[in-house]
Amino acid sequence: MKFSQIPGLRDTSRLLVDAIRNDHLAHAQLFAGAEGSLALPLALATAAYIHCEQRGDDACGVCPACVKSMKYIHPDTHFVVPLIKTDKDVDDDQRNSTLKLWRSFLTESLFGVPNDWATVVAEGEDKKNLLIPTSESRHIVKTLSLKAFESRYKVMILWQPELLHVNAANGILKILEEPPPQTYFILVSYAADQLLPTILSRTQILPVPLLDDEAITNYLKEHHQLDEAAAKRLALLADGNLAQAIRLTAGEDEDHFDEFIQWMEACANGDVGALVAMADNFHLLDKVRQRNRLSFAMSMMRETLLELYGAHDIQRAQPAHLDFVRRFAPLTSLNVVQTAYDLLNDGLLHLERNGSAKMIYLDLSLGISGALRQGRTATV
Ligand SMILES: [Zn+2]
Repeated sequence: MKFSQIPGLRDTSRLLVDAIRNDHLAHAQLFAGAEGSLALPLALATAAYIHCEQRGDDACGVCPACVKSMKYIHPDTHFVVPLIKTDKDVDDDQRNSTLKLWRSFLTESLFGVPNDWATVVAEGEDKKNLLIPTSESRHIVKTLSLKAFESRYKVMILWQPELLHVNAANGILKILEEPPPQTYFILVSYAADQLLPTILSRTQILPVPLLDDEAITNYLKEHHQLDEAAAKRLALLADGNLAQAIRLTAGEDEDHFDEFIQWMEACANGDVGALVAMADNFHLLDKVRQRNRLSFAMSMMRETLLELYGAHDIQRAQPAHLDFVRRFAPLTSLNVVQTAYDLLNDGLLHLERNGSAKMIYLDLSLGISGALRQGRTATV
């Protein structure tokens, strides 16, 4: 990954390039962004730039060091990433097989987010059970005590330090404070507020903002062959999260909208037969579309909440969808919409945990139906 491959984040990239060129980069960096930010690609680009043998304003991309960096196999870039929770120490075999998965994850999902990694590494297990075990702190100390192989520098990318076991976190405090010479630590966090103060105080924090709509729109136009209007629409829905925007390109928004209207009608009418048939159809969709369908429904509920609050200036739906929202809002209430939103959010989580799509959709439908119908009784 080179800085120029990251859509947006020009100022942040420039800051890093200047710091590295002037030898001012702090030895322990914390790249802190929201989930969906490009903090990880930024760390990868930083590592590549540090190792590049012909640095300009960016890594050259063609020197032997860059060739390895672009494949994530540079021997002086080390990765520590969260794994499925275990009581046992991680051994070299497990570390190597994880590293293999990690490299293909980086290659395949260029702007992947923690949830995508959880899907790869947890293979159906509960993704909440990911962590960086204590044995990894010993591994970090050992790895960094060795000389660099090919580069002048060693780079340790620690992904999601918020998932460090507390003993692992304590185990790296000393080396974080005083890393061996020519060593850079880059901690990449999506929940910096959950980090121990002792970790925070030892790092220089670099906030990584979410992308703006324009950067996402341009990216979708260039890399996903969308026209301006379609790209803009998805950028608005994705809310700064590039991975989410890319995911949305796989699902047809209009299908989701039509289905959403039918779904809400069936829920409002308590038409269980129709809801069961819809659950069957939902079950046949692929995982990405299932997720997009629920995300889309959530975005419609959010728009309805904003409508009910009178917050028209921050509504983001496209005009045809807003029309629906304006008709739907007066028929319902804040409580009902909030309940539906929360149910959808839970449904999405259950999907991530590989629950049965049909059961999740059906439960969700009955829950929303109950809320809508009760809300109506209450207002009558
Ligand atoms: Zn290079």
